Amino acid sequence: MSRIVYVNGRYLPYGEAAVHVEDRGYQFSDGVYEVFAIHNARMVYEDPHLDRLERSLGELRMAPPMPRTALKVVLRETIRRNRSQHGLLYLQVTRGVAPRNHAFPEATESSLVVMAQHTPPYDMETVNRGLAVITIPDIRWKRPDIKSLSLLPNVLGKQQAVEAGAFEAWQVDDGGMVTEGTHSNAWIVSEGGELITRDAGKAILDGIIRRALLDMARSEGIRFKERAFSVEEAMAAKEAFLTSSSSFIKPVIRIDGRDIGGGKTGPLTQKLIGLYAEHLETLGPLS
Ligand code: PLP
Repeated sequence: MSRIVYVNGRYLPYGEAAVHVEDRGYQFSDGVYEVFAIHNARMVYEDPHLDRLERSLGELRMAPPMPRTALKVVLRETIRRNRSQHGLLYLQVTRGVAPRNHAFPEATESSLVVMAQHTPPYDMETVNRGLAVITIPDIRWKRPDIKSLSLLPNVLGKQQAVEAGAFEAWQVDDGGMVTEGTHSNAWIVSEGGELITRDAGKAILDGIIRRALLDMARSEGIRFKERAFSVEEAMAAKEAFLTSSSSFIKPVIRIDGRDIGGGKTGPLTQKLIGLYAEHLETLGPLS
């Protein structure tokens, strides 16, 4: 079955889906995006993603492409037309098409693209297998809290990780503290058994899975702190893992070639993976 992509009001076959060469997303990265997980044909945490999208648009003074209710129809229709069961839904909004000029164009409509990508269903065995990360300097702009299309440092960082045989690169600020991965949030479990992830200021993207996990920790009585942690602290951690809509929760068992938690997935990571998997199975029908 061929993939169908929504582009500015039309559902097009993948091979015909295109935007104008003067789309500001293409020329300036002048746009924002969201990636939703799809599980059993349902969007995972749909409204929190849309809340974050609206925040990103607001921070960049960009007009929403359409009201939220209409956008939800487009998201569902894209899932339906692609018969997506498991995978990701990618949504991108840009400031639209206008003759190239850095300043905002005066009267331009936002561009909207939505596409579905199939990935294998949530598979506990794969998720339980641990991964390696490397650490790299965080060279991004000072607003990674906005989910903007400007991902060049993230692209270069991930490539560095791949070339080092690792899954992800954890970015480190000038003070030696881990901010986040190039496409995921970073977590550790301290010596004292406390769950730690960077506080959601301007230094990181406040991940939807990050927030969901903190809520789960709260309701399960798991001790946690939102604070910065250093590379040294991560190296000495009992457990480490990363989270994102596309990666779920993935145990990190090696940082810069050094084993974490004896090179095995830790018990708290395993518990959180289980809780998240349970949550996915409780998702209501796609309305
Ligand atoms: N941090 C960065 C830089 C990301 O790109 C992502 C996801 O793409 C995340 C964190 C995790 O966010 P979420 O849990 O909303 O997928």
